[in-house]
Amino acid sequence: MFCRRSFNFCCKVVSHKRFFHKTLRLGSNEPENPIWRTIRVLTNDIAPKKQKNEEYVTGFIEGGGAIGSSIAYWLKEKTNFHALRIVVIEKDPTYAKCSTALSVGGIRQQFSLSENIQMSLYGAEFLRTLKKRFGRDADVNFTPHGYLVLASRRGASQLVDNAKLQKELGAVNTLLGKEGLKERFPWMDVSDVELGCLGLEKEGWFDPWSLLCMLKSKAISMGTQYITGEAVDFTFRERSDIIVEGVEEGYYEGLNEVVVKLPDGEHKSIQFAFCIIAAGGESGEVAQLARIGTGQGMLSIPLPVEKRKRYVFGFNCQQNGPSINTPLTIDHSGVYFRRDGLGGAYICGLSPAPEDEPSTENLDVDYKYFDDKVWPILAKRVPAFESIKVANAWGGYYDYNTYDENGIIGPHPYYHNLYIATGFSGHGIQQAPAVGRSVAELILDGDFQTIDLTRLGFDRLIVDKPMYEIGIY
Ligand SMILES: Cc1cc2nc3c(=O)[nH]c(=O)nc-3n(C[C@H](O)[C@H](O)[C@H](O)COP(=O)(O)OP(=O)(O)OC[C@H]3O[C@@H](n4cnc5c(N)ncnc54)[C@H](O)[C@@H]3O)c2cc1C
Repeated sequence: MFCRRSFNFCCKVVSHKRFFHKTLRLGSNEPENPIWRTIRVLTNDIAPKKQKNEEYVTGFIEGGGAIGSSIAYWLKEKTNFHALRIVVIEKDPTYAKCSTALSVGGIRQQFSLSENIQMSLYGAEFLRTLKKRFGRDADVNFTPHGYLVLASRRGASQLVDNAKLQKELGAVNTLLGKEGLKERFPWMDVSDVELGCLGLEKEGWFDPWSLLCMLKSKAISMGTQYITGEAVDFTFRERSDIIVEGVEEGYYEGLNEVVVKLPDGEHKSIQFAFCIIAAGGESGEVAQLARIGTGQGMLSIPLPVEKRKRYVFGFNCQQNGPSINTPLTIDHSGVYFRRDGLGGAYICGLSPAPEDEPSTENLDVDYKYFDDKVWPILAKRVPAFESIKVANAWGGYYDYNTYDENGIIGPHPYYHNLYIATGFSGHGIQQAPAVGRSVAELILDGDFQTIDLTRLGFDRLIVDKPMYEIGIY
C-alpha cells in the first residue's frame, strides 16, 4: 500500500482528519475488514443528519461520462454492498457533447510520466479482460495496431528515454531509425525524422462509447442510481470535529448537499457523505460551486480544468495509402492520423497552438484549420495524402487542465469529503479504468493500493509542481 502521508506536499497543507485517518484511532488490535470499516466510517460521517435514507451512505458523483461511470463501477465492484449508495448526476443523458462520446479512443503507453504509463497499461489490461467482468458479449472493438511516435533530431534522445521507462514499466516497444522506418512503413517520407518508437503490444484504439455504456450499465446493475439533472450548487455544514490548516478551530464548513436542477426546473438537494467531481471540461465551473477558486486560503486556488475544442477530420485515400495494420502515427509536429475501418478511410487531427485555440461556444468545425495546419504536414509525411480532401469532421471538448495537461486525481486538500477526477486533456478515455479503480481505493481503502497517483493530486497546484508530459518534437 502506498502511504500518501509520505508525500511531503500533503504534509505541508493538510492537517484535517479524513475518513481513513479517523480509522487509525480505533485502538483495536484486530485488523478490521476494509469494507466494513469504510461503511462504518462513512456512516458516522452523515450521522448528525439522519433522513429518509438513514440506512445508506451516499457517494455522489458529478458527471456520468467515462470517468464518473468508471468510479461508480469500481465503488460498487469493490464493495458490492448495499449500504453504499452511489448516485451519479448527469445533466445530458444523450451525452451529445461530452468528451467521452467524441473521443478518438486511442490507448498508448508512450508517455514520459510513469503514472500515465501505468494507468494506460492497466487500461489495456482492463480491455483485455472485459469479457470476464462484463460478460461474453462485452466488446469495445479494440484495434491493436499500436502507436508510432516520430521524433526529429531534437526530440530523439527524449524518445529514447521515454521508451526505456515505458519498457521498464511493462510496455513493449521498439525504436526504429530512418532505415527501419522506411523498411516497415514504405509510405512514409522520413527525410526529417530521426527516430520512431513503435508500440508492439497493448496499444491501438477502441470505441469509447461502448466502454461508457458497459461501465454505466454494469454500475446500474450493481445498484448505482443515475439521475438526470444539473448540479447547480452546494450547501455547507459546520464541522467542529474537523481541523483544517488556516481555519480557526470550530469554524470549518464541509460540503453537505448538492443542489440539483431537474429537467422540469425543480431543484432538489441531495445529502452525501462524499462527493466526486468528474464533470469533464466543466469541472472547473462545478468546483467553483464549492467555493474552489473563489474562497480564502486553500480555497483561493481554482480547479484549472476547462473545455478546449479539438477537431477530428476524416478523409479517404484509396491508392498507395498506409496499409490496414498501420499504427496510429504521431508526427513530431503533433499531427496524428490513423485508419478508420478497412475501407481506405482515415481520421486525423492536431491540437492547436495557444494562439490558435478556437472558441468553445459551440462544436462547429473550422475546415480552414485542416487546410492551413493539418494537411501540409500530412502531405509531407505521407506523399499519398497529397490529394486528399476532408470527407467529414467533428469537434469535441477536451477536459483540459490548463496547468499541466494531466489528470487531477484525489482528495481536495480543504474539504474532507470531496474528491476530484478530471483534467485528462487528450488521454482520459484510456485512463478511465485505472482512475475509477484508484478513486475507489482512496475512498474505500484510505489510500492508493495499485498505482500510486499521489503526484497527480490537487496538492501539486498548491506547491506549484507541474507534472508535464515531456514532448518529443
Ligand atoms: C476529439 C477528442 C479526441 C480524444 N482522443 C483521446 C484518445 O485518443 N485517447 C484518450 O485516452 N482520450 C482521448 N480524449 C480525451 C477523453 O475522451 C476524455 O479525457 C475523457 O473522455 C473524459 O471523460 P470524463 O468522463 O471526464 O468527461 P466527459 O465524457 O465530458 O463526461 C463529463 C460529464 O459530466 C457532465 N456534467 C458536466 N457538468 C455537469 C453538472 N454541473 N451536472 C451534471 N453533469 C454535468 C457532462 O454532461 C458530461 O457528460 C479525446 C477527447 C476528444 C474531445
